[in-house]
Amino acid sequence: MFDVVIIGAGFAGSVLAERLARLKNKKILIIEQRRHVGGNCFDYVNDHGIIIHRYGPHLFHTEYRQVFEYLSQFTDWQLYEHRVLAKIDGKKVPLPFNFESMEILFGREKAQQLEKKLLNYYPYGTKVPILELKKNQDEDILFLADFVYKKVFLHYTAKQWGKRPEEIDPSVTARVPVLLGRDNRYFQDPYQAIPSKGYTKIFENMLNHPNIKILLNTSYREIMHFDFQEKKIYLFGLLFSGPVIFTGMVDELLNYEFGVLPYRSLEFHFKDFDLPFFQEVATVNYPNDHDFTRITEFKHIHPVENNKTTVVYEYPRAYVKGEIPYYPMFTDEARENYEKYREKAKQIPNLILVGRLADYRYYDMDDTVKRALEVYEESFS
Ligand code: FAD
Ligand code: UDP
Repeated sequence: MFDVVIIGAGFAGSVLAERLARLKNKKILIIEQRRHVGGNCFDYVNDHGIIIHRYGPHLFHTEYRQVFEYLSQFTDWQLYEHRVLAKIDGKKVPLPFNFESMEILFGREKAQQLEKKLLNYYPYGTKVPILELKKNQDEDILFLADFVYKKVFLHYTAKQWGKRPEEIDPSVTARVPVLLGRDNRYFQDPYQAIPSKGYTKIFENMLNHPNIKILLNTSYREIMHFDFQEKKIYLFGLLFSGPVIFTGMVDELLNYEFGVLPYRSLEFHFKDFDLPFFQEVATVNYPNDHDFTRITEFKHIHPVENNKTTVVYEYPRAYVKGEIPYYPMFTDEARENYEKYREKAKQIPNLILVGRLADYRYYDMDDTVKRALEVYEESFS
């Protein structure tokens, strides 16, 4: 009945389903444990006509033209450049921390001195990860690096990951570098936009094909069996020898044989206000106060003209089995264990791993789409 089985209807699974159905005329079964498609990118319109991102704010940005063009087949876009402020010492300053943030916090004179010093070492516009800036020996730059480290990164990272910045992979804090310039946008990618009707519509358009059947509200574990000894996969008790694309957690897939992989979870608290706007920009980060990390106001992302607004507070949590593993945790030990899972998974020749969880990578949406398109090329074209 089916040529390919895909587990998970997030971007990884949906891109592959779309490509295989449309270009290869394959019959696809998608198995998704949630009640909707879209994975963590799922959004919906609330009672106030505001598009809400159910699993946290999702801002599309990419340097990959092919990813933008691919997705443009399924949506129109509204130009949108994300702005983030961080509350530091009672003031709200732009993030990534930049020359304007210095001016607000240190005053013009001191900020200009620091600016000059920085530009002796780095060209204008450079993005310097905080852990790199901390290695600079210059006394003034070290003062700045220590300030930013303590006021922007230390406590936020403790809340988000339960760890110090040095204890996690440096690429994580490098996502928000110190920016030696005045560009106040959170991302500098050439393509930045928001799907006009939200992300869920993208998925509905991608998956709207007669060859694609979707089984929602079903874990693959209810209807599939992976036999790693025999190196075979069973669907509804019958041997299934077509490709199986897996986008879930590999430790769960392999019955935790090499231990539980660490993940980090989040709790989202949504609140409505009878106000046209709650805050100045879409996201305000609270590195040093409160248990939540940031507040995002959706109206800044998807504008609507009315006097109601909805925001979401993000409370990071230790991951507990059965909850949503929002973030893989990037420690050396975790990566080593993940590699053991990946090697073992290779023993089943028709099993393909792809996606943020299955690849155990900090993929943004564009990285996920790019990887899925690569897997399509590598394995199917
Ligand atoms: P997912 O979206 O997680 O999809 C995997 C799917 O598999 C899920 O639907 C899951 O239910 C399903 N599944 C898992 N296990 C099973 C099972 N046992 N049986 C059946 N189905 C199963 N990216 C950006 O580019 N910009 C952003 O601003 C941004 N913000 C983010 C904010 C947060 C809080 C998070 C967590 C992520 C953010 N991302 C952002 C990243 C983005 O969400 C991911 O890149 C993308 O969702 C990954 O797609 P995926 O298909 O790999 O995974
Ligand atoms: N970070 C921080 N303070 C901030 C913003 C980010 O310490 O105000 C660190 C933190 O470790 C975070 C990482 O930088 O997990 C990446 O931030 P990003 O905003 O990219 O996280 P995401 O949106 O993926 O949750």
